[in-house]
Amino acid sequence: AKKIKQTHWMYYSTSMAESWNRRLRLEKELLPALQAGHLLPHYQPELDTVVQQVVSLEVLARWFHPTLGFISPQEFIPIAEESAQLQALTEGLIQHALKDFIYWQHHCGYRGMLSINVTSQLVSEDSFCEFLVKIKKECGVADGLLELELTENMQLFESPFIQQKLRLLQENGFRIAIDDFGSGYSNFSYISEFPIDKIKIDKSFIDYIGESEKGEAVLDSLVLLSLRLGIDLVAEGVETEAQVHYLQLRECMLMQGYYFSKPIPAEEATTFLQRLLVN
Ligand code: C2E
Ligand code: CA
Ligand code: CA
Ligand code: CA
Repeated sequence: AKKIKQTHWMYYSTSMAESWNRRLRLEKELLPALQAGHLLPHYQPELDTVVQQVVSLEVLARWFHPTLGFISPQEFIPIAEESAQLQALTEGLIQHALKDFIYWQHHCGYRGMLSINVTSQLVSEDSFCEFLVKIKKECGVADGLLELELTENMQLFESPFIQQKLRLLQENGFRIAIDDFGSGYSNFSYISEFPIDKIKIDKSFIDYIGESEKGEAVLDSLVLLSLRLGIDLVAEGVETEAQVHYLQLRECMLMQGYYFSKPIPAEEATTFLQRLLVN
């Protein structure tokens, strides 16, 4: 019995050491990967399903490691955050994405937005906000075309400091979107006072369609609420035609999800935009 115990202990300790080594390695290779072009933005369109146009392209970070293969942002974004590299990473991704965005404006007649995922921590950094305002000006991007997506959390809605930062960014022409809405800290009282241009309703609610009447009831009320408040509403994670029909019947016309497109590299996004132009 003693022997088995020891083997177990050795097994766990080896796998812990392995995951620790991987973490250290990713931490060290993150910014070099960005420089080398192994870590780069992909784009997932958000569509207005009535006029069949792309209203926004969301930047989603992708890391294709030469030896470790594909690494999910769910793994490396927290690592970047904990090692104080998320600002540098995000700024690098934005610089890259803005080049693509301007190309689409000039060559594909693209009139939609570029949406960028940020954390409330990042938005509370003066130097990050200054970066945003500066690069928008340098690139000559019109007001209302760059959007910041923030995941809802307690800190976000209860910190007057963050609210003030978001107002400042709005005054500088940025739009503010709340990501994964309904998934976490769901106190709806704030959304009438909070500086919000758009709500992205969490995929879990879309998954209720045709599956749970109670879930559908909550979804319906969120749609009504955003219509009444005049806040844009995007349904995320739309995968089926039944979901599209359900949402359209309730006048939720903005959608994103695998049904329309997965996150795709810049060249494919160019093709996607051009195909919509000819249609
Ligand atoms: P998110 O911002 O909520 O992005 C949506 C995630 O759902 C993406 O996963 C996307 O690929 C996936 N998705 C979209 N449509 C569908 C669908 O129809 N079905 C299913 N099953 N999934 C769908 P991804 O790219 O793995 O990103 C995961 C999360 O990582 C993002 O969630 C976001 O919170 C974070 N993330 C990604 N890139 C960045 C970034 O550059 N900065 C920050 N701060 N976070 C990022
Ligand atoms: Ca997002
Ligand atoms: Ca989301
Ligand atoms: Ca999410």
